[in-house]
Amino acid sequence: MENLKEFKELGLTSKTLEALAKKGFEKPSPIQALTIPALLTGDKDIIGQAQTGTGKTAAFSLPILEKIDKSTGNLQAIVLAPTRELAVQVAEEMNSFAVGRKLRIVPIYGGQSLELQKKQIRKGVDIIVGTPGRVIDLINRQILKLGSLEYFILDEADEMLNMGFLDDIKEILSHTNDDKRMLFFSATMPKEIMEVAKTYMKDHEVLAVKKRELTTDLTDQIYFEVKERDKFEALCRIIDIEPDFYGIVFCRTKNDVNEVVGKLNDRGYDAEGLHGDISQNHREVTLRRFKNKNINLLVATDVAARGIDVNDLSHVINYAIPQEPESYVHRIGRTGRAGKEGTAITFITPFEYRKLLQIQKIVKKEIRKESVPGVKDIIL
Ligand code: ADP
Ligand code: MG
Repeated sequence: MENLKEFKELGLTSKTLEALAKKGFEKPSPIQALTIPALLTGDKDIIGQAQTGTGKTAAFSLPILEKIDKSTGNLQAIVLAPTRELAVQVAEEMNSFAVGRKLRIVPIYGGQSLELQKKQIRKGVDIIVGTPGRVIDLINRQILKLGSLEYFILDEADEMLNMGFLDDIKEILSHTNDDKRMLFFSATMPKEIMEVAKTYMKDHEVLAVKKRELTTDLTDQIYFEVKERDKFEALCRIIDIEPDFYGIVFCRTKNDVNEVVGKLNDRGYDAEGLHGDISQNHREVTLRRFKNKNINLLVATDVAARGIDVNDLSHVINYAIPQEPESYVHRIGRTGRAGKEGTAITFITPFEYRKLLQIQKIVKKEIRKESVPGVKDIIL
């Protein structure tokens, strides 16, 4: 769907328009064109649905920042995100839109010093972007009080559900004031989330950008049939033939991640790994190095890579075919974002065609077979 609106037609102030220009955002995405005016002028609760990579963060952040453009010392908005990385990312993006507003926007998540977070909260914060576990922890310790909220935002609602956070969300909601405005954002809207909306939202409206395909046309989807023992060589070939390779390699287990990173490093590639057993600190450093293109290869498990937004990825490689078709959609959603083209390559062993068919059914798009560039020469 082509969106012909301009940011300045959506009711945003010049302060925000400047921040957007600085970030290089030229036109609002369809979900932004829908939700920004609704949030700025209306008072209904909102369910915003649009596929991955379509700018949902800005869709709720921009209007919220306009609405609470003053530091009151009271917590005015809370955004719940499913992973630590996402919480950090959303807080960073919000901060980049909030230049000149003197708002304190703080990410809080597990694995980070509780003392530091306590101190920050005591000093006064305006917006918190947190993961459910740590938010509940801080509520239980009576450090975090959610009685003064103007906005409650659930980001990546479907992921929250997949990760088992439904009860946590309800628990957090039970500590909030009634007169807040609620916003749920997600790529899909599973019925459990709609149930929560029905129970906790007042008058709400659904703003959805429908798209038939789950994956974007900007991502070229191909697969290689590769035996397990040839996968590593195939990976090296793919990296070697692409001079501007910048991608994420998805593995099934933490061990696989470590092994692939080790082998890549031995061959002289700048690769680093991301998985749940790596310390939070180290994960953040790695992610930053990857985002800054100090390294061009990130090897990760599904959980660690959820929702991570890195621009301009040339490749997503499924070193192992995902267990669930949904996770295929999420993985390859890391490329083909914000109008940029990308390639998603899936390795399948001769025994995994059935899984590939399941995935094809869900993405409703052909995943083209190609042969690994020159890999046969290596095997011989
Ligand atoms: P989603 O939450 O829908 O998956 P994000 O909010 O993470 O998507 O946005 C995906 C990427 O697109 C981010 O890098 C973001 O900065 C960028 N982006 C968002 N809106 C715009 C826009 N209007 N113009 C250009 N880039 C945008
Ligand atoms: Mg998002």
